[in-house]
Amino acid sequence: MSVFMTEFKYGGILEGSTEYYEGKKAAVVFMAGCPLRCGYCFSAPLILSSQEWQVSDTERLMEYFERKKAEMEAVVFTGAEPLHQAEALMELCRKLREKEFLVRVETSGFYADALERLLPFVNNVAMDVKTTFHAEKYAQLTGFRGEPATLMQDTYRSVVILRHAKEQRPDLYVEFRTTVIPDVNDDSVLIESIAKEVSFADKYALQQFMAGPTLNDPSLEKLGDLPKFRLIELAEVAARHVKNVVLRTREDGEQPFEATTMANTQQL
Ligand code: SF4
Repeated sequence: MSVFMTEFKYGGILEGSTEYYEGKKAAVVFMAGCPLRCGYCFSAPLILSSQEWQVSDTERLMEYFERKKAEMEAVVFTGAEPLHQAEALMELCRKLREKEFLVRVETSGFYADALERLLPFVNNVAMDVKTTFHAEKYAQLTGFRGEPATLMQDTYRSVVILRHAKEQRPDLYVEFRTTVIPDVNDDSVLIESIAKEVSFADKYALQQFMAGPTLNDPSLEKLGDLPKFRLIELAEVAARHVKNVVLRTREDGEQPFEATTMANTQQL
């Protein structure tokens, strides 16, 4: 009997993506479940509805990855929140590294202890920093129903854990992302305060809030997309502290901040 089999829930698997692991072809696993309820979340079916979830186990998923090894050298776990199912994720990441896959995990940073335990088995981590590190504001933006101080403590601790890990292991790729929402966290002082905290990152991505009908909080649709020029202004502020700042927008996907600035200048 196998000792390596933990059940887990997921929404689906995207095969052969080149958008989730820079420079690599990857299988992307959309894990189910999240302790947060961000209004701008477009993964609502993954956080809210168990009817949308598929159930599998780690052994079957590893068999699948091994069959696909010739086509995909990386595996990305995203969500909802992959660390919500920490035991299954740990098993999978450990096995994947043994089989020499590259592994990336995308997280909100809510589960600091689990993140720390997982790090030896990943090559690449992306963490959301949703707003400034202020407990009440963070809890409000993420729809967190527990104690705001606990949310803030654990989320901030994840940043500290990643900073220490990066010092110990420079090859660990660390990315932070902030989705910039009009009139919510669209503020240069706020973005600069985040950029200072994550100055050690390999990449800081400013993501355009994109209005749409599938948002967790449908009332946010009326805000409209954040204008790209505003994202560029904020990127300029962030670039004072992080050397690699990128923009992610509906129209252009991911672009380095420097290239965006040059393109804009040429249009004038
Ligand atoms: S952390 Fe927020 S945006 Fe991410 S999956 Fe959970 S609710 Fe959605």
